[in-house]
Amino acid sequence: MPRLDRYGLATRTIHGQQQRDPFGSPHMPIYDTTTFAFDDTASLREVGEGKKRGGFYSRYGMNPTLYALEDVLAGLEGAEAALSFSAGMGAISALLLAHGKKGVVGYGEIYGGTLGLMAKGLPSLGYPVDLVLDDEGDALERRLREGIGLVFVETPSNPTLAITDIEKLARQAHAHGALVVVDNTFATPVNQLPLPLGADLVVHSATKYLGGHSDLTAGAVMGTRALLEPIDWWRQSLGSAPSPQTASLLSRSLKTLSVRVAQHNRSAQTIAEALQSHAAVRRVHYPGLTSHPGHEVARRQMRGFGGMLTLELEADLSLTEKIAESLRWFALAPSLGGAESLVTQPRTTTHVDLSDEERQRRGISDSMLRLSIGLEDVEDLLEDLDQALRLA
Ligand SMILES: *Cc1c(COP(=O)(O)O)cnc(C)c1O
Repeated sequence: MPRLDRYGLATRTIHGQQQRDPFGSPHMPIYDTTTFAFDDTASLREVGEGKKRGGFYSRYGMNPTLYALEDVLAGLEGAEAALSFSAGMGAISALLLAHGKKGVVGYGEIYGGTLGLMAKGLPSLGYPVDLVLDDEGDALERRLREGIGLVFVETPSNPTLAITDIEKLARQAHAHGALVVVDNTFATPVNQLPLPLGADLVVHSATKYLGGHSDLTAGAVMGTRALLEPIDWWRQSLGSAPSPQTASLLSRSLKTLSVRVAQHNRSAQTIAEALQSHAAVRRVHYPGLTSHPGHEVARRQMRGFGGMLTLELEADLSLTEKIAESLRWFALAPSLGGAESLVTQPRTTTHVDLSDEERQRRGISDSMLRLSIGLEDVEDLLEDLDQALRLA
């Protein structure tokens, strides 16, 4: 099969697998297989030693259904290769275990699970970790000079959708020989490609937009083969490759990624603009608004602004809760990226474990609602938001 580098993202998501099914199925079927048989020892060794691609043992990720998925995942981010995982956290854990030994900086707002790993898990194994917010002057530069080996960033971040300039961060980190890892879950490769901007590795919770239907849990890491090799060792050791069933479902979902994300983008922009002037809304955080502090950088490094937006209401904690509960089409649920719209109150879900002071430092207010804009008709979503906001 030819490499598809020069073709568009939708074409690559549909035709990105490098090996055809031997029976001609247009997609790779589910090889619900734990082990694969060989004609002789020489062929077993060839595949086992990685000289030839083939089915071998599914915990190693050596299964045709996973290869087909990983070809597409690599093509999406313009990467040399990709590894699939049973969850986003599986991907992030393996990545940080493989490359974090010399020290990790969690830069800016970080997803709760990753934050827990950085605050508790990694330090308990002797990995140095620092959490640096992007308004702390030269804190990052100092850590880099001390020889920290990896900077981990999410952009847009959760829940304020803050934007980090990936190109600038990569230049700064590379000057000190550190790796840059971008969690691209919120943006998706449809909207943002961190690798051409200078990032070394991209990580995803495929549970969100890549899966897109709230029906699978998976993760992915994309980058060079050399950087993926030690991550693959951890994936095998932790047993965190996805099942062939999940890999197949995710491959199926990826075929519609570009049309889904384009619609998420359009609806979120429409809702952000409409709510900007709503009497019950103090502030809309959305990188597609010119009022967003990261808008200029976002315009440079993103092709679309995503389906996530956060509102700050003219309401206290309990009224904000009531407004969230009175939404009809937005389910009160702590995930994102699916066809169905979701709402969460960061104060009582994703950021509940932080002290009041820490929440304030991170810009998390009591009156915040984070919306994952789904694929319903945008007029229906706007009408629903308007009826709920009338409580304020
Ligand atoms: C959900 C999420 C994760 C964790 O992914 P799981 O699939 O739940 O393990 C990591 N990063 C971000 C930004 C997320 O939203």
